[in-house]
Parts: sequence; structure tokens; C-alpha cells
Amino acid sequence: MASEAPARTTSLTAEAEDQGHYRDYARCVHCGLCLNQCPTYRLWGREADSPRGRIRQMFLVSQDEMPMSAAYVTHIDRCLDCRACETACPSGVEYGKLVELARGRIEQEYRRPPIPRFARNLFYRQLLPYPDRMAKLARLAGFYQRSGFERIATGSGLLKLAGLEARSQLMPRIDRKFFSTDATRVHEARGIRRARIAFFAGCIARMTFTSLNEATLRVLQANGCEVVVPGGQWCCGALAVHAGFRDVARDLARRNLAAFEQGDFDAVITNAAGCGSTLKEYGQLFGPEDKDHERAEAFGERVRDVTEFLDQLGLVSPLKREERRVTYQDSCHLLHGQRVREAPRRLLAAVPGLELVEMRFADQCCGSAGVYNITQTETALELLRQKTQHARETGAATIVTANPGCILQLRAGVKLASTGQEVVHVVEILDRALR
Ligand code: SF4
Ligand code: SF4
Repeated sequence: MASEAPARTTSLTAEAEDQGHYRDYARCVHCGLCLNQCPTYRLWGREADSPRGRIRQMFLVSQDEMPMSAAYVTHIDRCLDCRACETACPSGVEYGKLVELARGRIEQEYRRPPIPRFARNLFYRQLLPYPDRMAKLARLAGFYQRSGFERIATGSGLLKLAGLEARSQLMPRIDRKFFSTDATRVHEARGIRRARIAFFAGCIARMTFTSLNEATLRVLQANGCEVVVPGGQWCCGALAVHAGFRDVARDLARRNLAAFEQGDFDAVITNAAGCGSTLKEYGQLFGPEDKDHERAEAFGERVRDVTEFLDQLGLVSPLKREERRVTYQDSCHLLHGQRVREAPRRLLAAVPGLELVEMRFADQCCGSAGVYNITQTETALELLRQKTQHARETGAATIVTANPGCILQLRAGVKLASTGQEVVHVVEILDRALR
């Protein structure tokens, strides 16, 4: 694995970016049609924790008409950045872009208390940009999970005492073998080659979802894709953008642009909706004056979620029967961030014997939202409790979704509620049907 972090670069300050979006804020006509789509508004019924209320606050702060107070930061922190409000908005307000800019400015100007400030800087600046440090941390976590320490900590009540029991349920299981992107690898298409694509493997997913990445390659190959896994790729920067570390995200984006420009590909494919949304929007990270703006825009246009791509390409590989009732949970950054709703459902419908039963509020966030379940655990668990209930009502044996973060959250939900359901990605269903 490459050990160095990307070189530091300069670009627009968050304040300049934020203030330059007056017209974007002005698109909001305060109609309130988004309110009931907002998970935090539905939970608490407070205007300040609604999309409309947050837009108003962000606008006033951007114009220096309201101070950047602790209360303001709390309302913005509590937003899941799920973008359900964007889908609901008839005025085309790009809420995700606005909240990410507002968080960028908070990161630059607001002094958080010492412990969260230290933890955020440690994770976003000292760990996330460095593949080797992340791998060492993951190995340590894997040792904790497999050596018996975790069982002792849970069984002895130590985690409960430290108030970490719920959080520990939300932590990913670390794989024994990581998905490698050290060097470029080429996986031949099965049968006639129909496309040549580049696969984006993720960062944390490379250490916790190796089997999902391998299943994705198999499904793509079986459907006539030559799959290249470019070496040198790393985190897409989604976690950093959502937290306001826009400089870190830009540096990560430049690293990925270089990695994926190594070849000529029909598309860049990801199986993580959260990553896909950020990769498609790389252009937004760079101002129009930035030398990398056009490059980032061009890259974004080639990015496809794996479900979107397979649906467009058409499945050609024969699928065996899977007698099973499943329900599908929309991943926010696929549905609201990328406006992909039907593709995963059509792929599931293509599997003979599979019965898809829609759950109530499938388009509502499960509470995962990047690291929201770690930073806002109580709210995330309440949303998860509701989601688990809706999934249970369908009587489905399997919950299917399209994002590793949602899979982790939903697995924690079924475990906490003891529903006995399995939780898998759409491509894992296709992969099983291949064999
Ligand atoms: S992004 Fe989600 S949580 Fe945030 S305001 Fe919009 S709907 Fe509410
Ligand atoms: S964000 Fe859109 S839907 Fe929500 S209040 Fe503003 S204009 Fe209406």
C-alpha cells in the first residue's frame, strides 16, 4: 500500500465558497414541502432541525447576519446529509451542496471543544488520508474482535459501563484478508467483452467488505465486463466532505483522478452509494478557476453505481432460482444523491423466484449516514429502530440495500432487535444466483 498522504494543495477557502452561493440559498421559497421528508424534523418537529430551518440558518451565517454559535453548529451537525429534502424540493434546492459548504466553513471558523476537535483532526487529517495507517488501525481492531477481548469486554459489562455498548454494535467487522489496490489488476470478462470498466474499491470497505468487492467483480465479469482495479486509488473523500474537511477531500480527489486516468474506461464503477455520490460530484470540490475543475467534472460523468450500470448494460448471464422474500432499503446517496431508484429493484426482479416486498418508508434514512451513527448515536439508533420495524413487517428473510454503510447499520438493527434477517447488497444477491 502507498504510505504517503496526498500532497497538500490550496483552493477556495470554505468562507469564499459558502458566500458565493447566495443564489443557491435564494432558490428556497420556504414552502415546507420537504419538512415531512426530513428524518430529524419527523423525530423532533422543530423548525431549526428541518431542511427549511437549516437553509435559513446557513444563509444568515453565510451573509454574516447570524453568529456561528454552538446552537447553529448543533443543528447543522444533526443533519444526516441524507438529501431526502432535495428529492422532495420542487424548487431544485441543492441542499447537499449547501450543507457541505456550511460544514466546510464551520470547520474553518468554529472552535469545537478540545476532545471532539482532537478526535476529528486525528481521524480526518492523520488517519483517513493514509492507507497504511488505516490498515494498521484495522488490523488492531480485527485482533480485538477475534482474540476474545471483545467478547470479554461485552460479557463483563465493561462496554455497557463505558456507555459504548450500542456504538460497538455499529462497528464494522474487520476482514482477515483486505481487498488489494496496491497495484493495478485486470480481471478478464467472461464470454464476449461488452465493456471495459474501472472499479473503485473504497477505503474502509476494502478492509471490511472484501467479499462484497469480490462478488461485484464476479457479477461484472459474468456480464461481459473486463474489470480493471487501478492501483493507487484510495478513499473517495465522502466522509471528509460531509464533515467539512474540504481540503482533505480535494487532496483525496486528486489522488483518485490520477489513479483512474491511467487507462481508458467505459465507466468507473462503485458498489458504495455514498462513494458514488461524492465521486460523481468531484467537480463541486474545485472552483471553476481551479486547474482540476474540468478534469474532476469529466471524471464524475463517467462514474456509475454498479446497479445503475448493470441495469443499463443488461444482464446476460443466466441466473438460477432463488426462492426468497426480500425487501429493499434505498440508500440515501443512491436514491436522493444520484436519483437511482428503479435500477436495483429491476435487478432484483430479474432473479427468478425472488419476491420483492416493499417496506414502508424505504426511502428514509436508516441512520447510518457516514459516521453519523458514531457521532449522533442516539438519533441514529432511533432511526434504526424504526427502520428495523418496517423491514420486519414485510416478513422478508433478507434486507437488500446498495451501500456498505447501510449494510452495517441494518445488520446492527436486526441484531439488536433479534429479527434473524440477513442483510446483503444487491450484487451479492446476483452473485449467489450466478453460481
Ligand atoms: S439532508 Fe436529510 S436530515 Fe438533513 S435537512 Fe435534508 S432531509 Fe433533513
Ligand atoms: S428546500 Fe425546497 S421544499 Fe424545502 S422549503 Fe425550501 S423550497 Fe420548499
